[in-house]
Amino acid sequence: MDFEKVKNLIKTAGLPVYRMAQARQAVFEKGITDWQQAAGLPADLRARLEKQVKILSFKPLQIQASKKDLTFKALLKLEDGKKIESVLMKPGKTWSVCVSSQAGCPLGCAFCATGKMGFKRNLTGEEISDQALFWYQYLKQENLGERVSNVVFMGMGEPLLNYAEVVKAVQTMSNADFLNIGQRHISISTAGVADKILNLAADLPQVNLALSLHNADDAQRSALMPINKKFNLETLKTTLEEYIARAGREVFIEYTIIDGQNNLPAHARKLGKWINSIRGNYLMHVNLIACNPAVGKAVATPPAAVKNFAKDLAAMNINVSVRRSMGGDISAACGQLAADENKRRKK
Ligand code: SF4
Repeated sequence: MDFEKVKNLIKTAGLPVYRMAQARQAVFEKGITDWQQAAGLPADLRARLEKQVKILSFKPLQIQASKKDLTFKALLKLEDGKKIESVLMKPGKTWSVCVSSQAGCPLGCAFCATGKMGFKRNLTGEEISDQALFWYQYLKQENLGERVSNVVFMGMGEPLLNYAEVVKAVQTMSNADFLNIGQRHISISTAGVADKILNLAADLPQVNLALSLHNADDAQRSALMPINKKFNLETLKTTLEEYIARAGREVFIEYTIIDGQNNLPAHARKLGKWINSIRGNYLMHVNLIACNPAVGKAVATPPAAVKNFAKDLAAMNINVSVRRSMGGDISAACGQLAADENKRRKK
């Protein structure tokens, strides 16, 4: 929601300033989904707000809950009819939201359902930050918890190709008047748009950077992620060195293990060698993720394959964690729900 619109409306109506605080409290503390629920506001103000300010910039079409773990996935319809996905999950003690930054994606990674859909459009900052607000409302309605603590840009789209709106969304989500999510609890994951990575160090120095690598061999990575033809491993290496020097922050390398494609000991050795060649490599951390079977030729990864890969990396002094893949039973990998919905519509 664009809270500036609420402030302007209250101001131009000549209403007292404390009405702004009441409206803010209703939306961002009580989690109302409809202005009529803002009982503290006078009826005529509620009616005006209802007409002029949308609390959310989209409508939920579907919410799926995992039976295996605390993961929920929503299919959201934007005002122009485009569909995006957003995920709420609790991998530890706190709730995280995985947001989309684009409807579809132009980068066409081979393992990704969103990539198969092609690019529709960039999301506005409001459409991005509203995903955190939507899940905050959901937590309240379902009595699941008090707050959204973390946000990851790992949903549909490449965030650094929608740079200005992503920066706006981060600033909104971390604003004390909105959901007050600390920027150190927000992570931006890129497929490797190197020319924008350094901007992050200047514009959002507190935000965590994650690079989705998935392969440390140029030819094989280009086959998986065509963006590698534009920004190859050497370019990414020098960019990360510069980023680490400027931001002094840890960088996360996301590596989804795709059985038979990037999980051999030779792949681990190449990855370890690439990381160890980077100045500032002590600030790099690899997150290994088992593949959610989605589209193309990818199949679910046996847990032993992930463990062995982690062991090989640890033997090369690489900081490595194995991340639990959540929501496998609800198509929680990005783009799967929207792709399923499109298929149903075509039928
Ligand atoms: S993995 Fe990310 S960057 Fe690649 S196609 Fe999917 S959404 Fe786009």
